Amino acid sequence: MDGLEPGHQGAQAGRRPLSAVVFGRIRDIDASAPATWQDGRAFLTFDIDWAHDEVLADTIAIVERAGVSATWFVTHDTPLLERLRENPAFELGIHPNFNFLLNGDARNGASAEAVVDGLLRIVPDAVSVRSHSTMVSTPLLALFARKGLRFDCNLFVPHTAGIALRPWANWTGVTMVPYCWEDDVAFLSGDTADTASVARAGGLRVFDFHPIHVFLNTDAAERYDLARASLGDPGALRAHRLADTTVGTHAALTRLLEAATA
Ligand SMILES: [Zn+2]
Repeated sequence: MDGLEPGHQGAQAGRRPLSAVVFGRIRDIDASAPATWQDGRAFLTFDIDWAHDEVLADTIAIVERAGVSATWFVTHDTPLLERLRENPAFELGIHPNFNFLLNGDARNGASAEAVVDGLLRIVPDAVSVRSHSTMVSTPLLALFARKGLRFDCNLFVPHTAGIALRPWANWTGVTMVPYCWEDDVAFLSGDTADTASVARAGGLRVFDFHPIHVFLNTDAAERYDLARASLGDPGALRAHRLADTTVGTHAALTRLLEAATA
């Protein structure tokens, strides 16, 4: 990175202005065709995580206003899925929660297949998946492949590791699409890197946001912990919002979306 920002200052200094980042959908990635995942491309993904409709609608409106593509990992049925489906720039994937199975709790399905099938009934044409808590294993990848899920987004390799990322074909038939930035990891680890710069850093750049953290503009675990008792009450949640627009998850998303235009 040459540290240029914003673009017009670079132009005034006689240097090349920054080019706009093009946001794509995970399902359009072809591991063997680099033009589909690098060269100024980035990917915006959202783990919906059972967000209240008002919280989810808040994030949808932000992405719609920016007019960019995004992949939404769905956890539950909501009338808002129709709004997401109507937008050809959006992709709906699934966000299965296998965590209960580890404790012998069948409330979310008695097997991994039942958990996946439950979500595929809601999003029948899904081809992309990220598990809640990024749970993945060889049998789960084989299950995903059997169910027509062609893209796994469970591997998190933070941009701070300095590893150039790319997608690859796993032997199970699923394309592995690692991601490099996640909102809660950023605020938990004190990573305040400029998301627009991360998007331009080269290689495969996939970002993971949660609507609740966009809504709260979460900047620290304490803010989310205090809000947890009010997750079903958007009015009460609003009182927990961080008003400072220069830091936090909402700010990180806003800054990233600015990369689409400059
Ligand atoms: Zn999740």
